[in-house]
Formats: sequence, C-alpha cells, structure tokens
Amino acid sequence: MRWIRIEGLRLHSRDEEGRLRSQIVDLLGLRESEVGLVNIIRRSLDARHRRKPVFVYTVDVQVEKNVSPAIKFKKGINVHERPDEPVAPTIIPLRKKIKPIVVGSGPAGLFAALTLVRNNVPVVLLERGRKIPERVQDVEAFWRKGELNLESNVQFGEGGAGTFSDGKLISRTKDPLARWVKQVLVDMGAPEKILVEAKPHIGTDRLREVMINYRMYLEKKGCEFKFEARVTDLICHKGQLRGCVVNDREEIVGDFLILAIGQSAEDTYVLLSRKGVTLAPKPFAMGLRIEHPQAQINAMQYGRWKDEAGLPPAEYFLSARLKDGRSIYTFCMCPGGSVINASNHLGRVVTNGMSLSDRNGFYANSALVIPVKTSDFYRKSPLDGLNFRRIWEEKAFLLAGGNYFAPAEGLNSFLRNKTSPEVGFTTFLPGARAVSLDQVLPSFVVAALKEGLLLLGKKVPPFLSREANLIAVETRTSAPIRILRGEDGVSVSLEGLYPCGEGAGYAGGIISSALDGIKAATKAIVRESSSL
Ligand SMILES: Cc1cc2nc3c(=O)[nH]c(=O)nc-3n(C[C@H](O)[C@H](O)[C@H](O)COP(=O)(O)OP(=O)(O)OC[C@H]3O[C@@H](n4cnc5c(N)ncnc54)[C@H](O)[C@@H]3O)c2cc1C
Repeated sequence: MRWIRIEGLRLHSRDEEGRLRSQIVDLLGLRESEVGLVNIIRRSLDARHRRKPVFVYTVDVQVEKNVSPAIKFKKGINVHERPDEPVAPTIIPLRKKIKPIVVGSGPAGLFAALTLVRNNVPVVLLERGRKIPERVQDVEAFWRKGELNLESNVQFGEGGAGTFSDGKLISRTKDPLARWVKQVLVDMGAPEKILVEAKPHIGTDRLREVMINYRMYLEKKGCEFKFEARVTDLICHKGQLRGCVVNDREEIVGDFLILAIGQSAEDTYVLLSRKGVTLAPKPFAMGLRIEHPQAQINAMQYGRWKDEAGLPPAEYFLSARLKDGRSIYTFCMCPGGSVINASNHLGRVVTNGMSLSDRNGFYANSALVIPVKTSDFYRKSPLDGLNFRRIWEEKAFLLAGGNYFAPAEGLNSFLRNKTSPEVGFTTFLPGARAVSLDQVLPSFVVAALKEGLLLLGKKVPPFLSREANLIAVETRTSAPIRILRGEDGVSVSLEGLYPCGEGAGYAGGIISSALDGIKAATKAIVRESSSL
C-alpha cells in the first residue's frame, strides 16, 4: 500500500464529508475497491471574497502499490505522494543517568517533562501556582470580587498561562512535530478534531481537563510535581548550575534545569539578572482588546450566508501598514468568548481573551496591537521592557478606579476623541469603567491605533461598529525580554541552565512553546547525558 496526499477538495457543508470518497475515486480515476483508507489531514473554512463559505480538505488516501491512478487535472487541487513526517520525537540513547529539574508547568515545561520521561529520565517539576481545581477557585474569586492571589492566577498555576484561554492551537511553524504535540493533547483528552482543523482550538473548559490528565500521565511515568513551589534562588558553583532554592527554604539539587517560566514571572527575571544570567531586550506588541457582538462578526465574515447551518462562529485576522512603517494587527481572536482580567501583580490591569470549547458566547473579542520596538523602551537594563509595560498596566488599574476594573471606551468615542468617554457592555470582570483610552497607552500606540482602526475600517467597514468597545491594556503579547541561549540550548552565561518557551523569548503561543520545550529537553538530554 502507498499513501497519496490530495489538497484542495471542497465541500459546502461538513455534513457532506461522506461525499469526499466518491470525489477522490473520481479524481484518481480508480475503481471504488482500489481506494483504501481516507484520512482527513486538514480542514479549513474559506469564507473569502464574499462567496458562499466552503470547507477545503487535505486528505491522505491509501491505494495499492501496483495501482496507477489516472489523475484528472482540476483547478485548485494538488495530488502528490504523502511526505514522510516524523510521528514522534526520536528516543535518545542515554550514556549516563541524569537528574533534571523543570521549572514551570505551562506547555513548554510539560512538553519538556514529557520528552524527559519518554527517554526514561525521572523529573522534578516545580510550579509556583496551584493545581487546577484550586486555581479555578482563585481566579473566579479574582474575577468576581477583585481578590488577586499573587501565586495562583491566570498566569501562574497548573497548565501555565494558556489554561484560561481560548486554547487556540494555531502556529505558523512548519515543524512536523506540531502534529505530535496535538496528538499528545488528544491522548490527554482534547477533541480529535484539533488534529485536522486548520484553526484548531480546545476551549478553557476542555483544556483544564486535558492539563489534569497530562499531569496524572506524567506522574505515572516518573515526573514528580511540586506545586506552590516557587524558585527563589539558583544554586551555582563556578559558572555551573547545581540546583535551585524553592520558597526561600528548600534546596533542590539537579544536574541541569529547564527554565520554562513564561513571561509574567518578573521576580524570576530579576533573580536571573541578579545571578548574572545574560538577558536582552526584545520587541513585543501592545494595545487593547476590541469586543463586538459575535453576530456582527458572523455578518462581516460570512455576508448573506451568516445564518447558514454548520458554520462555526466567525473569526477574523486584520492588519494594515501605518505611515511610520509600523503596523496594526489583530491577534488571539476569541469567537464567542470573553475578555478576561489576566493580572498577576497587585495594582495592575492586564487584558486577554478566553472562550469555552463551544464558543457559544454572545460576544467576540480580539487583541488589537501595535509593535513595540526595543528603542521605544530600552535605556540600559534588559529589564526595561518589564518596567515599560508595568507603567501602563498600573495606569490602567488606577484610571479605572483601583479595583481591578478595566479602563474601556466605545470605539466611536475613542475615534472621536470624546471629552466624556462612553462605553457599552463588556464581558470583562469584575467590570469596566469608561475612561479616555488616550491616557492609558503610550502616545505612539494611541496614534497608531487611531490611524490603524480607520484603515481597517476602510478594508472591512463593519469592523468599525457602533457597538464595538475597546478594553485596555493588552501588554502580554509576548515577552519583552530574551534569556540568551546558544545553539546547544544552554544559557550563554550559566552552564546547566536551559531557558525555553515564551518566557525565554524564543516562542509565543501554546504550540510553539510546547515545541520549544521539546527542543530544550532534547538538547539537554544529548548534552548532559554525554558530558563527564
Ligand atoms: C488568557 C490567555 C489566553 C491565551 N490564549 C492563547 C491561545 O488561545 N492560544 C495560544 O497559542 N496561546 C495563548 N496564550 C498564550 C499562551 O498561553 C502562552 O504562549 C504559553 O502558555 C506559554 O507557555 P510557557 O510554557 O512558555 O509559559 P507559561 O504557560 O506562562 O507557563 C509558565 C509557568 O511557569 C510558572 N513559573 C513562573 N515562574 C516560576 C518560578 N519562579 N518558580 C516556579 N514556577 C514558575 C508559572 O506559574 C507558569 O505556570 C494565552 C495566554 C493567556 C494568558
């Protein structure tokens, strides 16, 4: 048997998937009995050009080795041999026993730990936050009553920053292991459809279950989890890391440490800087969240087919180039979701987006951001980016009343520079307060948002809806800092330290952070198990 890949098959409804087989038989010019298994590899929705939305498929088809298909040429359809893709990372022969520590239970830390236990290396995983059931209670108390737990919140705790998210698994990477990452998530309880959808998502409700299953699986395989275990110091001897200190008390010794702390652990960045670990400033992006009724987004994207059965809540990605060479773009769109309070520091407001697996909420939101260059904030310390975003997060907190409400303004009010700002209903909890957003963001970001929104409105007029509201501030798009590492994955200044994931500045998003965790652990195993 051999496998043929066909790209570009089209159907108007997912209910018609049963018809794919007859399309394939016809396309390949074969008899029905000559076509074996048909596996859907990818399904995307093409709703462009104001045409009726169509689902576009890539499939792998099994045919007998000795059968020669007589492929009919059809515009937009591509037929070729299935490429060889690795199904899982290779197992590395160990030359000696090694004792690693992993810090952080986000995607980077979890996939680093999985890579280690798959290679029969036992792991200790340290996580400053709490397990999901307790964490959910802490986060809900924050959203309901404004009571922030500094160690258990949207950024810190089991599963990392993405646990309270839309669980979008989109990544621009061409790394074939991205499929394996999704397969692992399916094995841990994520829906199978994430393996085929072009824009897969899990939803925070399912993701929480997946993360708990993931922990239980790793525990069975030799990973010891320690929660409420914050790394407060590194134990170093002659430029070599020997372990770390947890909660200023307990010493944990190891041969090397995989550091997957995410981008919100400012105290840990300060610790690294104090220990002489080389850090560098990194560009990031900032702006705000924009929220519309989902029905308006459906109309904007699907036009007169907006009420067609079988169409998912519509998504969008918009961007435009600005006069000064910067751009404006939407990011992390959450159909049917809500804007959430993602702060992990006292006296600061940070927005982000979240949705449930069925994405059936009344509103849609997205980050709307402007790139921030290092020259916008860098003076002399690599920590300057953290200080820069802190200023705006604190401003947001204070201007909205100092009770973790978000400053917010109607889109029209913002664009018309109204002196008495207005805002409609937003999903943000504990609440939002009408504030002129001109005060809440750096002037270059405000100017770029105003210019950019008008450009986006020219491209897609319904985007500038009267009912759209802006909620500030969105600052945690990616880390404003990089923990420099060499090709071998090790910190350029501290032997035995393997920084990875979003916090190291080499990844952003769930999939790319997971892939970076795998890479870091693989490099560490190769290097550490062969060193004397
Ligand atoms: C609300 C929200 C929604 C998001 N939505 C999406 C989405 O839909 N799709 C997507 O791809 N990405 C999304 N992201 C981004 C995504 O979550 C991150 O890119 C990803 O989680 C980064 O993975 P990581 O493992 O590098 O770090 P993190 O997930 O941030 O994990 C780091 C972990 O390290 C722990 N830690 C930090 N310091 C210490 C210390 N000193 N000691 C012990 N433990 C420590 C933290 O508690 C945390 O659990 C979202 C983020 C947020 C906040």
